[in-house]
Amino acid sequence: MTGTASPIAACRFAEPARFGLIPGPTPFLPAPALAAALGGPRLWIKRDDLIPFGFGGNKIRGLDLMLADAVTSGANALVTGAGPLSNHVRSTAAAAARAGMRMVAVYWGRAPAELQGNHLLSVLWGAEVRFTDDNDRSSVDPELAAAAARLAGEGARPYVIPRGGASTLGVIAHALAVRETLDQARAAGARPDAVVVAVGSGGTLAGWILGSQLFCAPWRVEGVTVSRPAAEARARVAELAADAAAALGVPAPVTADEVVVHDGFIGDGYGRPSEAGAEALRLAARAEGVLLDPTYTAKALAGYRALVAAGRFRGDREALFLHTGGEPSVFVRPEAVR
Ligand SMILES: *Cc1c(COP(=O)(O)O)cnc(C)c1O
Repeated sequence: MTGTASPIAACRFAEPARFGLIPGPTPFLPAPALAAALGGPRLWIKRDDLIPFGFGGNKIRGLDLMLADAVTSGANALVTGAGPLSNHVRSTAAAAARAGMRMVAVYWGRAPAELQGNHLLSVLWGAEVRFTDDNDRSSVDPELAAAAARLAGEGARPYVIPRGGASTLGVIAHALAVRETLDQARAAGARPDAVVVAVGSGGTLAGWILGSQLFCAPWRVEGVTVSRPAAEARARVAELAADAAAALGVPAPVTADEVVVHDGFIGDGYGRPSEAGAEALRLAARAEGVLLDPTYTAKALAGYRALVAAGRFRGDREALFLHTGGEPSVFVRPEAVR
């Protein structure tokens, strides 16, 4: 029975321990007014933005497993980094507070004049914040190692989470979210043919692809990139999915060519609101009272909207949009709302 991704094989993987940041399934809700406004298939939204911890969002899923791993390995401090608007760093700071651990956050660039958004929340949750004074994102990486060495020198036992949080445990956490969603879809009588998700580091899409295969989901999963070119995102997603599959002892679910990532919705760049994204953000707000974020979910919905208009989902009866969180950025990017 080895060498297949059957549900029987799926029962045999060792499920990683959870710390307990997430008390239950996140809401799986219909969005009829938004579906009508978009003119596409019946639409459902999976509300990972409503995870009731640390302002929610997809990063909490991975952190729930990483925090358990950190505790098991005897760590008493977390170290991670990204940009100052990062949802991942903010979520990690909340997780560290919850576990009674120290937390060092390394941000690229210079300290902004004002403390706001996710940066503000990270400080509120007790993160010791450092800036690299270098706008190159990779300037964070050597500083993570340096921060860990410094903590160890002070007698702490640091656990380093890679920049942006894309790790094997993070991918596995999203694969397990598929099982949760399948149960909810069944109970709601929902039958999505397609799942649409924003792609940043690619860990969420990788997990959803892996989980959809592991648990025999009847849908295909499509990403909308908000940061890297689609070709780079596809390769990264395939690699992340393969690494997580290997950790679970199941076959790699996809090649890079099989990963679906749509391009054309980044706008002026990662983290900069786009006009199409702002329209999508307002549309979801007014149709459903749902708040998207300008960096990820608004651009993903803009992608879904354009693809619906182009006929991409024409044969589909139902679609599922993943709301992956990120709302603190709305308060830092008022131009995305006006
Ligand atoms: C990080 C993030 C994403 C993208 O997830 P990846 O796993 O990095 O691709 C999407 N939405 C929000 C709100 C995020 O913070």
